[in-house]
Amino acid sequence: MRRALAEAELAARAGDVPVGAVMLGPDGSLLATGHNEREATGDPTAHAEIVAVRRAAAALGQWRLSGCTLVVTLEPCTMCAGALVQSRVDRVVYGARDEKAGAAGSLWDVVRDRRLNHRPEVIHGVLEDVCADQLTAFFRGL
Ligand SMILES: [Zn+2]
Repeated sequence: MRRALAEAELAARAGDVPVGAVMLGPDGSLLATGHNEREATGDPTAHAEIVAVRRAAAALGQWRLSGCTLVVTLEPCTMCAGALVQSRVDRVVYGARDEKAGAAGSLWDVVRDRRLNHRPEVIHGVLEDVCADQLTAFFRGL
């Protein structure tokens, strides 16, 4: 999560909302990183999780990320939750909850929807206050 927070800081420096993610391989090694690049790239899908999923798949040479763990500073939105289900990651770890748009336990629970045939394990609240403070500080600065 510390590494994801450092990624999020890169987003903030570029004027993007600070959200950072890391993808860990089945052996726990660092596979890919990503941070929110919506403003930097003009791409509405360039959320930290999507960037990390794409890079991890490219690094592995396949779309299936079985055994992998995504660590992200903010609870995934519906788009990212969908991408995490589609990529078959085993585990999603997040810090701050997103009561307004979260899709991993807050507003929705897309990743653990029993109607889907793949449901990653979810671990939340890791360094929650630090992750939330980083976002609060960014918005206070605007
Ligand atoms: Zn998202």
